[in-house]
Amino acid sequence: MRADPRRRVPRTDTLLADPELAAASARLGRELVKTAVAQVQQRIRDGALAPADAVPAVLSGLSATASSLRPVLNATGVLVHTNLGRAPLSPAALEAVVAAGATTDVELDLVTGRRGPRGEAAIAALLTAVPAAEAALVVNNCAAALALTATALGGELVIARGELVEIGDGFRIPELLEATGARLREVGTTNRVTLADYRAALSEQTGAVLKVHPSNFVVRGFTRSVPVAELAAGLAGSGVPLVADVGSGLLRPHPVLPDEPDLQTTLADGADLVLASGDKLLGGPQAGLVLGRAELAQRLRRHPLYRAFRVDKTTLAALEATLRGPLPPVQQMLAADVAGLRRRARGLAARLAAAGLDAVAVDSEARVGGGGAPEHPLPSAAVSLPAEFAAPLRAGTPPVVGYLAGDRTLLDLRSLRTEDDEALAAAVLEVAIRCR
Ligand SMILES: *Cc1c(COP(=O)(O)O)cnc(C)c1O
Repeated sequence: MRADPRRRVPRTDTLLADPELAAASARLGRELVKTAVAQVQQRIRDGALAPADAVPAVLSGLSATASSLRPVLNATGVLVHTNLGRAPLSPAALEAVVAAGATTDVELDLVTGRRGPRGEAAIAALLTAVPAAEAALVVNNCAAALALTATALGGELVIARGELVEIGDGFRIPELLEATGARLREVGTTNRVTLADYRAALSEQTGAVLKVHPSNFVVRGFTRSVPVAELAAGLAGSGVPLVADVGSGLLRPHPVLPDEPDLQTTLADGADLVLASGDKLLGGPQAGLVLGRAELAQRLRRHPLYRAFRVDKTTLAALEATLRGPLPPVQQMLAADVAGLRRRARGLAARLAAAGLDAVAVDSEARVGGGGAPEHPLPSAAVSLPAEFAAPLRAGTPPVVGYLAGDRTLLDLRSLRTEDDEALAAAVLEVAIRCR
């Protein structure tokens, strides 16, 4: 009889009954483990794996969680990278998410046993952080905040031509606003708008004047826009609300980003409502923040669409913990001094060079990204490796995403949490061994 290698392929039942794989099934679900088992059986059938190694091979083929989303080391130098999930949550926010992910008192008053206001603590944290706001609400993202505002305030929205912004990946704010049924009343030209332009556009139909922060481009040369304070003063007495979409979610002015608008100043300057994202410079979960006058916030909250845009308990928990807890990673990255970044780069490069790699520390430029502080480079430092490292680093465990500069792969350290330096070094060494 011919020796049939398939005879030696361990049976699915036998493998799934292995104590380690049974434990993995309990944790990750039977289907995920079965898929990994099938892949390993195929490798054995192909003669690429010894049958005795089946169990460890299945284990190493399993993802760490039941989700296939994998943690990635962000060495792109872009602090808020939309393709990498924007802001990494702080450990405090992550803990809060885990706790709130179970059943929680998000909408129940435990003292009276009655229904309570949803997300009250996160709202309170926002109002503490931005004292100029009378009220706040939290929706799914800043796009939802814009859609809700446009719908609830209704009528015509007066907006400067130079602020008809495309945020990214085909997301155009004017198209979103029009999709709600609002009419746009464009004022000024691409490069210039004055207070008189806004005032001339006001009518019975005006629902709001909207200012949108040009968060991913700058216009230079013969330009003029109307600052919030001037616009608010010019609209005083008209009864028309001034809504400002500031995008990045800075709570207060930031010394590193002098041109980036913030929630507190924009309200203090006279905006009636400010809108922002939660997962950009605020450093929290994906969310849309709406802060400002109580009467307007109430109109938004009472609108039927609010229910479609509201956030879940884990978002509320992460937001509250971001606001009340220790400085979130994005804020730490923003504040990092370049001397410290250079020290980290030199330390890492020296370790890699000692292992025989062509690695050097170089100065680099990082960016805020994700719609914030366009053209404002942040001085940074990187580990420079040969270009060939880029692709295998992305395919590693954990994947590392850097960027190419000429014939080098740069791993920028400003966008990487300091506590991830060790994992970065290990990932690079692993690639060096694999590709040797
Ligand atoms: C990023 C951005 C948005 C969109 O925010 P999301 O939270 O991604 O929906 C809207 N407006 C401005 C000015 C932005 O910068």
